[in-house]
Amino acid sequence: MSGKRILLLERGNFLPRELCNWQPLQVLDAGRYVSQDAWCDGAGSPFEPRVHYYVGGATKLYGAALSRLRPADFGEIAHMDGVSPAWPLGYEEFEPWYAKAEWLYQVRGMHGEDPSEGSWSEEYPWPPVSHEPLIQQIADDLERAGYYPFHIPRGIMLNEANPPTSLCIRCGKCDGFPCLVHAKADADIIAVRPLLSRLNVTVLVNAEVKRLETDPRGQSVTKVIVRRGAAREEYSADIVVLAAGAVNSAKVLLQSASARHPAGLGNGSGQVGRNYMCHNVTDVAALGEKPNETVFQQTLGVNSFYLANDSRRAAYPAGSSRRWPLGSIQMLPRDGTDRAVGFRLTTEDLPRPGNRVTIDRDGRPHLAYAATNGGEAAILRRELETMLGHADLRVAADESLVAAGPPADAIADQAGTCRFGTDPATSVLDVNCKAHELDNLYVADASFLPSVGAVGPALTVMANAIRVGEHLAHRLR
Ligand SMILES: Cc1cc2nc3c(=O)[nH]c(=O)nc-3n(C[C@H](O)[C@H](O)[C@H](O)COP(=O)(O)OP(=O)(O)OC[C@H]3O[C@@H](n4cnc5c(N)ncnc54)[C@H](O)[C@@H]3O)c2cc1C
Repeated sequence: MSGKRILLLERGNFLPRELCNWQPLQVLDAGRYVSQDAWCDGAGSPFEPRVHYYVGGATKLYGAALSRLRPADFGEIAHMDGVSPAWPLGYEEFEPWYAKAEWLYQVRGMHGEDPSEGSWSEEYPWPPVSHEPLIQQIADDLERAGYYPFHIPRGIMLNEANPPTSLCIRCGKCDGFPCLVHAKADADIIAVRPLLSRLNVTVLVNAEVKRLETDPRGQSVTKVIVRRGAAREEYSADIVVLAAGAVNSAKVLLQSASARHPAGLGNGSGQVGRNYMCHNVTDVAALGEKPNETVFQQTLGVNSFYLANDSRRAAYPAGSSRRWPLGSIQMLPRDGTDRAVGFRLTTEDLPRPGNRVTIDRDGRPHLAYAATNGGEAAILRRELETMLGHADLRVAADESLVAAGPPADAIADQAGTCRFGTDPATSVLDVNCKAHELDNLYVADASFLPSVGAVGPALTVMANAIRVGEHLAHRLR
């Protein structure tokens, strides 16, 4: 604890706890928790992004699949569409914060099941959520066929107070829904609410940061300009940490252009807003002979295609020979009315300078985006089909969520836009996530990622936020 006074400025409010939290018609069809905002695509056509401006941000609706990146993701990786760049630090250096994030977010999982994962300094705090019978059967079939099924690490709080037989596990919803019983380890429940009683912490909701202003020399942020309701307010702090999500953090920096920072705050490199990434995602529904009575289906993952076929061959089914890393396979939540078994295929998206956020005269973000690695996604889809044959499942339908879609479909895993690195000419942030060009400005959300791998970014963002927090505590001491 630093003893410093901390002010959290949040654009949205606390997400209401109500029965609608679990009602698909309200949440999925009516978009009850989608916040109003207006973005444009690269051609200037407006679209409504599916964003969630609440305390806890996108994690209020996330699936709480909390996976680490693979060690290889921290290095340079050759892909079909180009190179995924190396990070300024390696997996071994980053690992201690993964362990801290897994404990903070009470992750349930089992290290060692998945041969593609890196080393770990701590076991998970809780054992994994077990497979229900049909999913266990699929896992057994896949293992017999030479794949490496594993339990997806999940931030679901099923402890003595909230045992597996509770409402939570009968609900089966996590991904895309707020948790009515607050059993999902999201950033609101885990990282904000426990601090509300602290005298040195203040949370202001409905407080949208519009602009950051600096001293005349342009070296330190001296004012945070906020719109709260109809009022314009100003705040100041020794240290300012921006964590508004990859699009909105870029937007705030670009809106903060000044005589000293004409292209946007901290944007002497021209990199702010560039290298936007998400994931190349395909959802696949498969049918088998047996009825699917599973409730909580998102327990099984397969990373047998994550890495290219190289010396880490142990991670591949015998006899496979592939040149490219293809990505991860994880199960989807079950739609209660559906007898199909759902799988989500996630392929890495590459940082491209032209995939970028800009703002127009009215301050609206424009997101120019074209997905990468569609070829790898297509091979992964074929590998899935072969794999499912070993579990007596056949593909009934699939939907590519990103490859051909508009940017509106490429927002959930948004990342990049302010990448960290050692070279101020090619990165926005230094290794501690401080803006190269400012003394007291940090960015600590998914914008810092120089590459995004092929698993959800949340655990990596959480681990990095703890890392940056520890750096700040040290600096303030
Ligand atoms: C439906 C869904 C399911 C997902 N499932 C998973 C999953 O299972 N596993 C996984 O790893 N990832 C998942 N993700 C992605 C994950 O939630 C994000 O990667 C993660 O939340 C990113 O964190 P962030 O801090 O960058 O941004 P956010 O979580 O978006 O947080 C940004 C915060 O800043 C606030 N804000 C924005 N602009 C301003 C402003 N101008 N002033 C003040 N406040 C502002 C927002 O309201 C929000 O609270 C999912 C996302 C979605 C939408």
